[in-house]
Amino acid sequence: SHIEVIEGVKALALLQDTNGRIAGVLAQEKSGDHFQIRAAETVLCAGGSGGLYAITTNPKSSQGDAVAMAYRAGALIADPEFVQFHPTAIDIGRDPSPLATEALRGEGAHLVDRTGRAFMSDYHKLGDLAPRDEVARAIHAEREAGRGAFLDCRKAIGAHFPEHFPTVFDACQSASIDPRIAPIPVAPAMHYHMGGVVTDLWARTSLAGLSACGESASTGAHGANRLASNSLLEAVVFAERAARRLKDATLAQPGEATAISPPEMDEPTMVELRKRMHSQVGVVREAKGLSATLDWMDAATQKVGPARALVAARLITAGALAREESRGGHYRSDFPGTRAPHRTFIRRDDNGAPLIQHSAIADGD
Ligand SMILES: Cc1cc2nc3c(=O)[nH]c(=O)nc-3n(C[C@H](O)[C@H](O)[C@H](O)COP(=O)(O)OP(=O)(O)OC[C@H]3O[C@@H](n4cnc5c(N)ncnc54)[C@H](O)[C@@H]3O)c2cc1C
Repeated sequence: SHIEVIEGVKALALLQDTNGRIAGVLAQEKSGDHFQIRAAETVLCAGGSGGLYAITTNPKSSQGDAVAMAYRAGALIADPEFVQFHPTAIDIGRDPSPLATEALRGEGAHLVDRTGRAFMSDYHKLGDLAPRDEVARAIHAEREAGRGAFLDCRKAIGAHFPEHFPTVFDACQSASIDPRIAPIPVAPAMHYHMGGVVTDLWARTSLAGLSACGESASTGAHGANRLASNSLLEAVVFAERAARRLKDATLAQPGEATAISPPEMDEPTMVELRKRMHSQVGVVREAKGLSATLDWMDAATQKVGPARALVAARLITAGALAREESRGGHYRSDFPGTRAPHRTFIRRDDNGAPLIQHSAIADGD
């Protein structure tokens, strides 16, 4: 086959020629050795950014690497503040957090506090079937108020649990919870990144020689709040379009190219970053916490350098501070209303600082 699969290798940075054309990646072997993978076209598909948060359903490897690498190379990034929190991750201290699927509420399970009181009708007219962001904020509020949040499946599913929801049942059992007789403790968890590397409808980014698809990309298809199950559809559609475009294309060959190897995060700084992203750039945000987080990131960058995780987390935080409204996955307690629809675009300016611009979305866009 003409396809060579290289496993166990991490992309560290994009190679770029003197004209700014992307020429492949600087990669790292498991042994720590660096080497170049040269390519006339590079397709970023390194997943989402959940690993930047302390509580996430994503694997640890999803730390916004694609967004950070593309941004560092000068690509346009869009709507990084739009982060979707799954309302009902099972709160048993596992990383990543296992999910209590929304199908459970579809079957009639209720969200209750620790006294057993169902609370969703206090927050939304659709009760337990309210949209993802509404349910996530309600659970967040109940937990912040010290009342806790649990998914009570006893009546709706009961004895059928093991056959109907075996994955959730196994996750509960691993923490000695029997959902047939006890409510499941739940917490919102970072689940999906709507923002990412801007692409057109053919997965082209703003940089020559660079495409992106999957969760790393911001095609605009998910708006501010992805609908459940649409991410795999989007990934497949845009990956196929990228492949179709590139298959017979005559690709320009990049010239001599280099990349500066970025520093890696040390573990204590990563743990602190994830905690701060969870508490200050999470389900509910406000200017004071976002600004303090950016200050902390400045200090962390001084200490460890522009590690990919810090670069990606900074984009989410800066986008969240700049968007003074609430919409979809982005909720500001100091700006709870919605403004005229607009997208956030961020790129590096000539001095390496983030340049943020908002662009209005016309009706019908
Ligand atoms: C628990 C869970 C359930 C979900 N359920 C659904 C669902 O039912 N329907 C739906 O549509 N979506 C669902 N999603 C979302 C969906 O799974 C993801 O959006 C999708 O898998 C993203 O695909 P991707 O190819 O973009 O990235 P991924 O599948 O995350 O793959 C990215 C790959 O890149 C690798 N990588 C990352 N950084 C680097 C680097 N620097 N160098 C080299 N490799 C790197 C990662 O290790 C990984 O192998 C779910 C997500 C989760 C977490």
